[in-house]
Order: sequence, then C-alpha cells, then structure tokens
Amino acid sequence: MSSKPYKIWFNGQFVSWDQAQVHVLTHTLHYGLAVFEGIRAYKCDDSRSAVFRLQDHIDRLYASAHIAEIKIPFTKEQALEATLELLQINELVEAYIRPIAYIGGGKIGLHPGDNPIELVIAAYPWGTYLGEGALSKGITAKISSFTRMGVNSFMTKAKITGNYANSVKAKLEATSIGFDEAILLDNEGYVAEGTGENIFIVRRGILKTPPLTSVLEGITRDTVLKIAKDEGIEVEAERFTRDELYIADEAFFTGTAAEITPIREVDGRLIGTGQPGPVTKKLQSRFFNIVEGRDQKFIDWLEFFDTASPLKVKNESL
Ligand code: PMP
Repeated sequence: MSSKPYKIWFNGQFVSWDQAQVHVLTHTLHYGLAVFEGIRAYKCDDSRSAVFRLQDHIDRLYASAHIAEIKIPFTKEQALEATLELLQINELVEAYIRPIAYIGGGKIGLHPGDNPIELVIAAYPWGTYLGEGALSKGITAKISSFTRMGVNSFMTKAKITGNYANSVKAKLEATSIGFDEAILLDNEGYVAEGTGENIFIVRRGILKTPPLTSVLEGITRDTVLKIAKDEGIEVEAERFTRDELYIADEAFFTGTAAEITPIREVDGRLIGTGQPGPVTKKLQSRFFNIVEGRDQKFIDWLEFFDTASPLKVKNESL
C-alpha cells in the first residue's frame, strides 16, 4: 500500500499511515473473520462537511460484530467520535472511511480463544467508485458465474470480510472480460446484488429491489427506499429474475462507494434506452442534494463536522 499523508486511528491512538501494520499471524488474515464498514463524508460548504448516516454505519458495524461474535473493545460512541476526530485531524473535507474490527494475533488455530480484538479506522479521499462517467452515463454489468453465498453459510446481514472473497472473484471475472461490474444471483437463481452494491430496477413505473434475504442491508438501499416514498414512487421489495432485469426500463446500483450508479447494459443487452432513466436521475439528484446538505427534509442523516479549524492530534503514538 503506497504511503499517504493521513493518520489512522489504531485502537484508540492516531498513528501514521505507514505505522498502521498488522502481524502476519493475525487470526483474521488467515480465516477471514473480521467486520468492517464503508462510509462517506461529503463537503457541504466552505466550513462544513458531513458524514452520511454515520450512526447507522456504526450501528451496522456493531450488529455485524454481534453476528460474528467479535467483541469490539470500544463503545459505539467512541467509534463515532474517533471517526469525526480522524477526519478533522487529517483535514479531510470529502472522504471514504473504512473502520474494521478484526481478531489479532495469539492463537492461530481456528478457535480465536482470547486473541485481542483490534479496531482500526482509516479515512482518505476517494472519488467515483465505478470510474469516470459512471454516475452520469451508467455502467455495464454481467451476470456472474459465481452465486451469492447461501444465507446459512455466510451471514449476509453482517459485513464480514470473508464474505468478500466471493465478491472479489465475481468482480475480477466481470472486469477481466470488459464489464464494469458483476451481478450475483442467489442460490435459487434470482437477482441478489452487485459485488459491493444493492440493485434496483424500474419496470412499468414500479421500483423493485430484492428483499433482504441474501443481500446486505444497504444503507444507501434504505436511503433510496425512503427518498422514493417521499417522491411518491411505488416500491416493491421483491425477487426478480435476470430476464426481468434485461427488460427493465431502468436499473441502478446503490452503495456507499457506488452511490447511485445507473446500469446501462447487462450481458450485452441495453437496459431501456441505454441511458440513465428519469426515475434513476430523480433519485440520484435527490441523493446528492441530501448528502451534500441541500435537503432539509433528511438533514438528520448528516453528522456535520467543522473543516475551517483543523484539529491537532492529542494522543499520537509516533
Ligand atoms: N451489498 C454489498 C455486498 C456491499 O458490500 C455493499 C457496500 N457496503 C452494499 C450492498 C451497499 O451497502 P451500503 O449502501 O450500506 O454501502
């Protein structure tokens, strides 16, 4: 990982980017049991930025940890405060934030015993996830040959690192043959989600998204459902098939990294006109108004922080 001029919050202390290292015998590195989050902060004006739905992301981190039986040795309040402090210390006005709670070194057998649980939070600038033009023109996707993991083997309500081996393989498969993203089907062959995104279609004026069985309970998914309700758009959380996706009028991905990304083509078939449709554009524009603090109705989703007066590190370990 190339060096960056940002501090990382490491178990309660701010350390330099290069110092935030783990040992090769870290339990999580071998068995893939850690829980993490992806969060974004947006610039609202010249003196303020805001983290979008920070409390909901922290709640999901601790819910994932509860499912994974990882006891995070910090409270939710401490994690929330640490995130805001980290952004200010790094003088970040827009950022992607990555908290991770993992099982540290000690016993290397499968049973983690009393190995320490480490909590780390990193933050750094990160632009459009799916490439330039993705938000305005849309992206191409391929139905993956990989299946979304069965709900009793991988618990999809939890953002567990090991679950993402499946996503990484699907992503590599799709991109290696020229697609931007993969869409995974569930065990029964219904559309589930992208590698790191929930999926929506619009057909005959109805907005549809798969129910929360084999997909992550996306915070952007929930945001879109609430915006749609507010806009009077009819919504169904219902399973749909890949061919229904092919004949949808519009389709888009949602995710903290992907934001609201139109899907213009799936498996070589244009979706609708092949241009982002009116419902997608309306939801996308409302979404950016909300996250950038221009929409009073959903202002409670924003955790504002001051960007005009930088903070200094108090408990630095260098
Ligand atoms: N599904 C998966 C598998 C994901 O990794 C993500 C990203 N966290 C999402 C959906 C979207 O979730 P959110 O909107 O909370 O980022």
